[in-house]
Order: sequence, then C-alpha cells, then structure tokens
Amino acid sequence: MNANVRKDGTIITCEWFNALLRDASGNVSGVLSMVHDVTEKTELEKQLRVSQKMESVGTLAGGIAHDFNNSLTGIIGFGELLRMRMAGDEQALHDLDEILRCAERAATLTRQLLTFARRQFMEPVNLNVSTLVADLMKLIGKVVGEHIEVKTSLENNIPTIHVDRGQIEQVVMNLCLNSRDAMPEGGRLTVETEDVVLEEEYVRHNAYMRTGRYALLTVSDTGVGMDEKTRERVFDPFFTTKRPDKGTGLGLAMVYGIVKQHGGFIHLYSEPGKGTAFKVYFPAIEAQPDAVPEKRREEILRGGMETILLAEDEEAIRALVERTLKELGYTVLVASNGEEAIELFRQNKEIALAVLDVVMPRKGGMEAFKEMHKANPNLKVIFMSGYAINAIHDSFVLIAGMPFLQKPFGPTILARKIREVLDTQ
Ligand code: ADP
Ligand code: MG
Repeated sequence: MNANVRKDGTIITCEWFNALLRDASGNVSGVLSMVHDVTEKTELEKQLRVSQKMESVGTLAGGIAHDFNNSLTGIIGFGELLRMRMAGDEQALHDLDEILRCAERAATLTRQLLTFARRQFMEPVNLNVSTLVADLMKLIGKVVGEHIEVKTSLENNIPTIHVDRGQIEQVVMNLCLNSRDAMPEGGRLTVETEDVVLEEEYVRHNAYMRTGRYALLTVSDTGVGMDEKTRERVFDPFFTTKRPDKGTGLGLAMVYGIVKQHGGFIHLYSEPGKGTAFKVYFPAIEAQPDAVPEKRREEILRGGMETILLAEDEEAIRALVERTLKELGYTVLVASNGEEAIELFRQNKEIALAVLDVVMPRKGGMEAFKEMHKANPNLKVIFMSGYAINAIHDSFVLIAGMPFLQKPFGPTILARKIREVLDTQ
C-alpha cells in the first residue's frame, strides 16, 4: 500500500497486485499490475480505530471515576458534618477546610472524567444554541482578555436542539479557552452558529455521521494551530501540550464526551501557524425552545419530620446520609439493598419518601421503587448514583425528569433536594 498522486494533484492511497508475465519458454516478458484505490477504505478504518480507542479509554476512566466518587462522597460528607460540630476551634477548622478543598478538587476531576466517559447525568431541555452563545459571550469576552478580538455570527433561525444547558455551556467555554491559550500574542476568536443539512454524499465520507438537519456550532481562532501528531491526540484525556499548572488535558476530552452523549459530532480543522476551527454538530429537533428558568437562590438548610426510607449498598454513604437526615429531624429507616428496602416499606406505612441508590445488589433502586410504587402511588422518590449510565441509550430514560442526586453530594444539596421533593405535589 502506498501514496500516489493523481493527475489532478490529489493524493490517494493505493493497494497494488503484481504478477509476472512469462512467454512460452518461461522467461519473464513483463509485469501485470492491478491498482486499487483504497483511500476511502483506509480513512474509514482510521475513523473506526479512533472511535474504538475512545470507547475503551472511556470505559476505563468511567470505571475508576465511579468508585472514586463513592469514596469522595464519604470524605466530603463526613467532613461537612464534622465542620458543623467544630465551630469555635479555629485551628481544627482550618485543617479541615484544607481537607475539604482537596476533596473538592478530586471531585471536580472525577466529574470531568465522568463527563468524558459519557456517564454524566443529563437534564436535557429544548434550547436555541444561538441564544445560549449570545448569553455566554459577555463572560467569554471577559475571560479571553483584551488582546483578543471576539467575533460572533449567530443564526437567528437556528433549529432547536435537545441538550443539557450546562454541558453545552461547558463545550463553548472549553473551546473558547483553548483558543485563548493558542493566541498568547493576540488574534481573533470567532463563534458561529448555522443551520445545516447533511446529505448522503457528505455522510459517505464520514461513516459515523448521519444525514439530517443540525445546529452547527463553530469556534475558530487565528492561533498557533496544531500539527498532525497533536490533532490525533487532542481528545485523549490528560493529553496536553501546556505546562502542568496551565492545562489538565481534560477540556477536549469532556467536550468529546458531551458531544457524543448528545448524539452529535465534532470535527477539527487545524494546521500549524494557520489557526484552528472546531465544528460541533447537534441533531436538530422539531420543537420550540423552553423558557429559561430563573437562577435558583441559595437557601438555608431546612429539615422536616417525615419518615424517609434510605437504601444504599455503600456503607460509608449509607451512614453519612442517615446521619445527615437524622440531624435534620427526619425519621430514617435504612436498607443496604433493594429487597431489604421493599421489606421495610411493607412494614412501615408512614414512609413519605424513598432515597434509593440506583445500582445495588439484590434489586437496584429502580426495580425496588417500581414495586413500592405499585403498593403506594403517593410514595415519593429520589434516586442517587455515582454515575448516570448512558442517559440516552439506557433504561435510565425511564427516570428522566425524576429527582436525582449525582454523587458526590454534600448535606446541603441533599437537604435541599429532599425538601424540594417532599414539598411538591
Ligand atoms: P488543555 O487545554 O488542558 O491542554 P484540552 O483537552 O482542552 O486540554 O486540549 C488539549 C490540547 O489540544 C492542548 O494542550 C493543545 O495542545 C491542543 N489544542 C486544543 N485547542 C487548541 C487550539 N484552539 N489551538 C491550538 N491547539 C489547541
Ligand atoms: Mg483546554
């Protein structure tokens, strides 16, 4: 297999089949050569290899992050409880805060890895990506600095997309920050949105894409650009060309995971010295964008007197949630798996809310809830999990819109969620 130049100057990859031609007496009289243009085939193979690599790295990263999350939930949770009891002891509080800060950093890292592994819980809404970008640009203008000119070109008639707002903001933000880093001497950052339709012909060369209508987001810059070696690895988690204190190498890994989790595609165009463009395709839907909710105000911890059933197999988390709930005034019944939870539920009629881990031995939270819900349709529920399982493809769709707590969470978030669920009809 080798590269060959066609008359029109394009380079193609060819596979050669050669055979010697012999005359009647057996002497070589020539060579018969057959050439097969395999450009498209090799390109598709390359695309497949890349996606398989991303898939296996994602599985590994996601698995580690999941277990880490459980430990961190314990560390942060008990840390916060301890904090409440140590008021007055300045020295101890100071040390404890250091521990909590470290744990928060680790929690951020696991969240990023889970995002890459497409195991981040999504709360999708219908939105207009042009509006989202317009809202974000004020902030982006501030963080990129004055030496960079920021331009936008936003399509007013952009098709609606069904996405998690926070995650899409993260995509825009990460791409813009990378562009900033690529232009230390200044330059131009451009953010565009377009309404595009992908036809058969286009998709034939990009086997992983599908025909149809998309909202296209393009972030481009006039920065340093990338050579092929860098282009091949940019989406790998922890791949960075920046100094350790500047880059974690998780930005584009997260962007990749988010785009994939939304059924979208991302393309990269870049040459050294010629700048960079990232094109992100989000599948369009036929719907109006939802109204943008007002920012939720921070509130104080509020408890209650209700009875709560808690099921969690991880001992540290179970103990933590139980303690937190008791301190808030609730009566708590504890189970370490789904079957135990159902048993407790049968014996206690006054249970108002079930807080259930999604993945447990001997019946998971979902299955347990279904049985309890049959016996008492008024029972309320909150699911908790260290990861959200692929929210699009998995049966998790069943509980989209149901109250959910992503681990690790602290007592404040737990307390607020519980009141929120108990107080809604
Ligand atoms: P980080 O920004 O922490 O290094 P990312 O995953 O966001 O991690 O990016 C990985 C690498 O990809 C960067 O270190 C850089 O080498 C390259 N890169 C990303 N975006 C750009 C860009 N707009 N221009 C040039 N290089 C880029
Ligand atoms: Mg980055």
